[in-house]
Amino acid sequence: MDLKLNAEVPVFSQPDAHYELVIIGSGPAGFTAAIYGARGGLKTALFGGIAPGGQLIMTMDIENFPGFPEAVTGTDLMQAMMKQARRLGTAVLSDEVTGVDFSRKPFKLTYSGGKTCTADSVIVATGAQARWMGLPSETKYAGKGVSGCATCDGFFYRGKEVCVIGGGDTAAEDALFLTKFATKVYLVHRRDILRASFRMQEKLRNNPKIEILYDTVLEEVLGAEKVTGVRLRNGKTGAGREIALSGVFIAIGHTPATALFKDALKLDEDGYIVTDCRGETSVRGVFAAGDVIDRTYKQAIVAAGAGCKAAMEAGRYLEEINK
Ligand code: NDP
Repeated sequence: MDLKLNAEVPVFSQPDAHYELVIIGSGPAGFTAAIYGARGGLKTALFGGIAPGGQLIMTMDIENFPGFPEAVTGTDLMQAMMKQARRLGTAVLSDEVTGVDFSRKPFKLTYSGGKTCTADSVIVATGAQARWMGLPSETKYAGKGVSGCATCDGFFYRGKEVCVIGGGDTAAEDALFLTKFATKVYLVHRRDILRASFRMQEKLRNNPKIEILYDTVLEEVLGAEKVTGVRLRNGKTGAGREIALSGVFIAIGHTPATALFKDALKLDEDGYIVTDCRGETSVRGVFAAGDVIDRTYKQAIVAAGAGCKAAMEAGRYLEEINK
């Protein structure tokens, strides 16, 4: 599922380089910003990290990204965006940004073992990461049967029974994906109605391997060396129940990946970056786009739109300061 950087073009970072626009993050927001930035004539670099592509590379079939009548895999979509960004002149770097200094201009970014570069403008598009329940047993069995990524780990559950916790599109998609391997998939949701889209719910209902347990919460992951089951409780009746299974997939939403910016940018109480309507953050010249600012839609197309907007605003900002 890894998105490989295009082998024909060497990927290298140039320490102490200066860019007009640096984008941090390589999901649809980041790559769209790169496409617009580079095409707008800006010397643009995108820090994609060692596993570029963002959350979409864990998505199987994307049926709602315009332009793909037969659906597209997340990996193919991100590969295409990356190629497009590179063709237009973006330096796509496989380095991880480890520090930012937005207190003076040009902005300074530290990456990979202390190397630095500078930038006149920055777009933060670091996305979000999977949220965990916070149960001690979940931590205890992480990697031993508890997973936050069905597309990464589903393969190991061939012929086994598993459960997915959550009621949104991610949980639905994970449950459907896991039926390729598992003999049975329990979808455990805390309410009596799913949050997942109508289309997803229809697919769940039509899959004989899936059983939805409504009004049910995960109380404990059971196991020895590895996961052997779960203890569940019905939130309405209070009845407890244990199910023997081998895998527990947590799919209860995401939190914005903004730890790097907590002292540099204004964040809201849940860690999302605060921006104005143009995508500009609390620091002039630093913009943000995608799931780091979006607590409502979290859609690839919305992130791509926000990336476009941020790059256009960064261009306007640079024109203004260079007048
Ligand atoms: P959501 O926030 O949409 O759903 C999270 C789910 O987890 C909810 O059902 C919520 O329950 C449940 N939940 C949250 N916290 C807990 C907890 N502590 N214990 C038990 N359950 C909990 O997140 P998703 O990751 O599913 O989706 C995020 C966005 O990405 C959405 O906009 C979705 O549409 C989109 N998406 C689209 C896809 C596609 O179109 N192919 C695929 C995947 C995601 P409750 O409902 O009670 O709040």
